[in-house]
Amino acid sequence: MPNLSVKERLAIAPQEMPVREPAIRAKTMEEVALGYTAEQAKAEAERCLSCKNAPCVRGCPVGVQIPRFIGEIQKGDFKAAVDIIKETNLLPAICGRVCPQEKQCQLECTVGKNFKSVEKAVAIGRLERFAADWERENGRETAPAKAASMGKRVAVIGSGPAGLAAAADLARSGHEVTVFEALHRAGGVMVYGIPEFRLPKLVVSHEIDNLAARLGVRFETNFLVGRTGAIRELLEKEKFDAVFIGAGAGLPKFLNIEGENLVGVFSANEYLTRANLMKAWDEERAATPLFKSRIAAVIGGGNVAMDAARMSLRLGAEQVHVIYRRTRDEMPARAEEIEHAEEEGVIFNFLRNPVAIMGDEQGRVAGMKLQKFDLGEPDASGRRGPLPIAGSEYVFECDTVIVALGNEPNPLLTKTTAALVADKRGRIIVDETQKTSLDAVYAGGDIALGAATVILAMGDGRRAAAAINRMLGQPA
Ligand SMILES: Cc1cc2nc3c(=O)[nH]c(=O)nc-3n(C[C@H](O)[C@H](O)[C@H](O)COP(=O)(O)OP(=O)(O)OC[C@H]3O[C@@H](n4cnc5c(N)ncnc54)[C@H](O)[C@@H]3O)c2cc1C
Repeated sequence: MPNLSVKERLAIAPQEMPVREPAIRAKTMEEVALGYTAEQAKAEAERCLSCKNAPCVRGCPVGVQIPRFIGEIQKGDFKAAVDIIKETNLLPAICGRVCPQEKQCQLECTVGKNFKSVEKAVAIGRLERFAADWERENGRETAPAKAASMGKRVAVIGSGPAGLAAAADLARSGHEVTVFEALHRAGGVMVYGIPEFRLPKLVVSHEIDNLAARLGVRFETNFLVGRTGAIRELLEKEKFDAVFIGAGAGLPKFLNIEGENLVGVFSANEYLTRANLMKAWDEERAATPLFKSRIAAVIGGGNVAMDAARMSLRLGAEQVHVIYRRTRDEMPARAEEIEHAEEEGVIFNFLRNPVAIMGDEQGRVAGMKLQKFDLGEPDASGRRGPLPIAGSEYVFECDTVIVALGNEPNPLLTKTTAALVADKRGRIIVDETQKTSLDAVYAGGDIALGAATVILAMGDGRRAAAAINRMLGQPA
């Protein structure tokens, strides 16, 4: 549809994302959102006004050239679209699925602003996912160009989005790259945290396989740097020329209340890792199956809490409750995730927080003592704080408690590496090029940012790779 007027473009209805039926999807690990068809993608792309000042690009942490790629989808040239995205975003099939676009590119979209609703913005993330899936599913990926080797070797610690992005750019620049990963499978939170029903593992493993097959990146799994080997050894004994630390923020926060050691209390990290990485849902074959919950309670209001609650339904819990100390308006989770959880049957309990977890005579969770809260005045960030109501405690029956209060960086690397400086929250301190306090050692992603997002981690990895290239005398 060439040469549509602005008025005509604004009159095109937004394309809904097809999703699986809630009653069916709540019992399966299969992906909830099914992706646009080519016709839907083209129709959605036609809503883009191709703004000259491209406010959406400013909203994207890695500056994807959004109007350009959407323009190619309008023309039906999906390969050209994905090639444009990949100039800046190495993992579009992943980011198209998990980026909080409503707080980034789509928040700035002129179409959404015209309707005063971010929900009416052009669905940039869905179009990004469409283009990337189209390329993969149609076998249209092209081998990335690789510079001639300069004989330099770089060690990457951690295989999450920060590590993978750094590894990809460094390998493309001709360096020999080895990724050291503590777990038995590469991918970081994208494989052990974010559930299959939001991000199919096939999409992640495809990217990792490409890095190994097309760029020659080596993956050493089951290698915990700081225990199996240390950063100094990588530099001095193993003769790596540079190190990038992308070790994430995998240390869960707890409530620090009575009863947190009872059987049936999990951190969301452990719960999701058992379900995703160890495939606890596969009761026939899983090496570490999880017991079936009757009533599961998830504490927290972020995306991790939504993932844990929805996973718990899929693992067979009869009832799943989210317990959150503020109200729905203050929940940090994405609106779409909250809606999906609600549609699937997750029950929300607002203005509540546990003060103790109670056990039975076998030391298993039998319930929680919940306290009621009110909302106070907005704080400096504009968010209204929770105020406990004295004497409001009551008993809430449950047999599983999943604590989803966020994560911090694991202190192992800072404790085992002299002079590697971190702040008091354990985040490795880096300069604007991602360089740490140590020569030839760079860091990025959650280990430097605190628990953040896939795209920010990826951006850090790319910035670090550019700086390492400069340090090694290779043009970025
Ligand atoms: C349940 C959950 C859901 C999320 N959902 C979203 C979402 O929808 N959208 C979004 O943008 N973000 C989401 N996030 C956040 C996002 O996943 C992270 O911000 C991102 O993965 C950080 O990337 P990273 O590369 O820094 O670290 P990670 O992905 O954490 O990867 C770090 C890797 O390093 C390894 N490692 C750690 N220490 C060592 C060591 N000493 N030696 C060797 N290897 C080591 C770890 O095993 C891990 O594989 C979610 C997070 C969680 C926990």
